Amino acid sequence: MEPMRVDRAPRSPEQAGVLYLDHAATTPLDPAVRAAMLAWLGERFGNPSSVHRYGRLARAAVDAARDRVAAAAGCASREVIFTSGGTEADNLALRGVLERWGPERGRHLVVSAVEHEAVLTTARELAEAGAAALTVVDCDRCGRIDPAAVAAAVRPDTVLVSVMLANNEVGTVQDVPALAAAVHARSPRTLVHTDAVQALGKLPLGLEALGVDLLSLSAHKAYGPQGVGALVARHGVFPSAQMTGGGQERGRRSGTENVAGIAGFGVAAELAERRREADARRLSALAGRLTNLLTETVTGIQPTGDPSARLPGLASFVVPGCRSDLLLAVLDELGVCASAGSACSSGAPTPSHVLEAMGFGELGGCALRLGLGRSTTEADIEAAAERVGQAAERVHEAGAPAAGRLRPRW
Ligand code: PLP
Repeated sequence: MEPMRVDRAPRSPEQAGVLYLDHAATTPLDPAVRAAMLAWLGERFGNPSSVHRYGRLARAAVDAARDRVAAAAGCASREVIFTSGGTEADNLALRGVLERWGPERGRHLVVSAVEHEAVLTTARELAEAGAAALTVVDCDRCGRIDPAAVAAAVRPDTVLVSVMLANNEVGTVQDVPALAAAVHARSPRTLVHTDAVQALGKLPLGLEALGVDLLSLSAHKAYGPQGVGALVARHGVFPSAQMTGGGQERGRRSGTENVAGIAGFGVAAELAERRREADARRLSALAGRLTNLLTETVTGIQPTGDPSARLPGLASFVVPGCRSDLLLAVLDELGVCASAGSACSSGAPTPSHVLEAMGFGELGGCALRLGLGRSTTEADIEAAAERVGQAAERVHEAGAPAAGRLRPRW
């Protein structure tokens, strides 16, 4: 009989010489995060709602993580509601506020045109179902939202305004404090939510500092695990639970807690905040260098987003004549993991609503996003610039394939 073949474990992308430049889609687990989680995937277990010692240990782990997330998010521990990630946090903010405050304050929502789908699609679905009226505020060519335009969209029946802190596709950072102040000046009862999923570990957070009432976070954008996040809701805001059952999370989000994930999120959040300033400085410099190299060497390439208010480490472009799906396929062949804009669940190329809102038209189909991270070095930047140049050349040489024949040969 043939001896059983045991395949070697796949090498990590770094070991294989692959440049992972998609940290805006997800980040690898920090070893300290992994260690914190492993305890809860091994000898430790227990339902945090159980009264016995196993339960009490699990509860203590969740409480410790809540304190850590609160410290990183600039809020009180009781204001943290753990969720299954950023998408659920955004849904809880919009749906929960509408349900809780809509009957009393009105059912009008204001969101920006550059929101993540978790906000934009949710708001549109609520409007289509007749549960809310919706105003979508446009952005400028850099993806900036004018605080005055947001305030002007607020009506007496506006219950919630949602504008993200940092955009996941083009990295534009909004002036959320100015925006929240303008909204509250016009209508003190209107609540303000910001999706800060991309900002954890990159930008200072804080309900007070930002002037917001609700803020969404996700662990896996900051070296924590996928499938866990939080909605921070200022004390007294009480969004209605969208997941009902056993009354966990003080009735705000039922379901037995993901203890391993939450413990990992706690450590990731603490690390993210501790490293924030140094990481942000280093990543901004590297992304600037990459942007300069690419604009000098790749024909026609245009940086996107706001050059003066950018998410550290996110470099985004349009490459005229290079369809995103083709460019990404060639880049993958050349050992560069990049993306077009947002991570797309279907893998199918879809035009970016963000670039469309920014007025890029057809060019929106030629987006390239390079998300740098803690492991990215200066040598990686040089190598990435060279490979992006090669990939763009190959796509240009191949010309645009006929529709329906989209699979590249390289
Ligand atoms: N909001 C923003 C700005 C994001 O970038 C993402 C993830 O891509 C999400 C929300 C959704 O977060 P999650 O993947 O944890 O559901």
